[in-house]
Amino acid sequence: MECLFCKIINREIPADIVYEDDHVLAFNDISPTAPTHQLIIPKKHIATLNDIEEGELALIGRLQFTAAQLARQQGFADDGYRVVMNCNEKGGQTVYHIHMHLLGGRAFTWPAG
Ligand code: AMP
Ligand code: ZN
Repeated sequence: MECLFCKIINREIPADIVYEDDHVLAFNDISPTAPTHQLIIPKKHIATLNDIEEGELALIGRLQFTAAQLARQQGFADDGYRVVMNCNEKGGQTVYHIHMHLLGGRAFTWPAG
């Protein structure tokens, strides 16, 4: 398996893991763009948002739920934070294993760049 994030799941390359359960892994982004920048990924390899099937909806909900839990634990849930999923080239996706960015600890502008 050539996928970078599958290698992190399988402990073939190191990551700073902040949460793990049977379905989901979360770790600090190697190149943070906010005081907190974590990636929440399913353990199942799914390449892009376009590849999610109906049977996987609970898994995607778990990514969102984990983001909210991590935000609460780290104390910025009430202040506010941002979650982002980039899809394909124009969406800015660079790793083709779906991941939710959890960004916290500063204010974010809108619209996105
Ligand atoms: P995206 O551009 O949405 O596909 O996001 C990919 C993210 O993965 C980027 O924010 C990268 O900084 C991050 N990233 C790439 N390699 C690693 C790694 N080995 N460990 C942690 N984060 C990584
Ligand atoms: Zn993968």
